Amino acid sequence: MFFLPLSEQAQEEFDQLKEKIQSLNPTEQEQDNWSYIWGLSKYTPKKYYNYTYSSIEAHPIFKWIWACQCEKKIKLFSWFMVNDRLHTKDILCRKNLLYDNGDYNCILCGHGILENVLHLFVDCQFSKRCWARMDIVWPINGSLEERIAALKSNDDRSFAMELILIGAWSLWLHRNNCIFRQNISSLQQWWASFLAILKIQTYRQKEDTKEKNLSLDS
Ligand SMILES: [Zn+2]
Repeated sequence: MFFLPLSEQAQEEFDQLKEKIQSLNPTEQEQDNWSYIWGLSKYTPKKYYNYTYSSIEAHPIFKWIWACQCEKKIKLFSWFMVNDRLHTKDILCRKNLLYDNGDYNCILCGHGILENVLHLFVDCQFSKRCWARMDIVWPINGSLEERIAALKSNDDRSFAMELILIGAWSLWLHRNNCIFRQNISSLQQWWASFLAILKIQTYRQKEDTKEKNLSLDS
């Protein structure tokens, strides 16, 4: 009653394994040798990861995120943002977590629109004004990674990627301050905090990028 027939693929793999085992001629004198499929006797998570995911091509945006000259916390935040893993209100709503007396709308613009990752960082009227201060105008269509890729390729500033990620991070902090500290959404306040974050990040950047970045301050 608990017998489950093997799938066609599993049966094929089972037959191959049987053939391989039958072709072995173990002798008592020989010692067993253990090795991993990637050819080494030592296990490393990196080898396992490279072997398992070698056939998967990730969007180049992930390389750009890890390669950019920002603090790790900003890179990690960006990874969460692009993968839609931030605790935006739409996700909390989906998980049935009551939020802010059931108010799942974007606090930045106050236009009564459900807060999700695309609205918060791209489509929100407040965020658009913030991006405009950075000379960034988002493309209208596409997923978040497609839009970031388009922004990056159309922006000839060498620090475009850093700017996008720092901009998003500063909006996220501004949003959190509005929700958890009851601050009022304000372009001036956001701008001041954006410049402060930018200044800290420029200490990590190469000299030419640093100068260009600080020019936003003027
Ligand atoms: Zn909004």
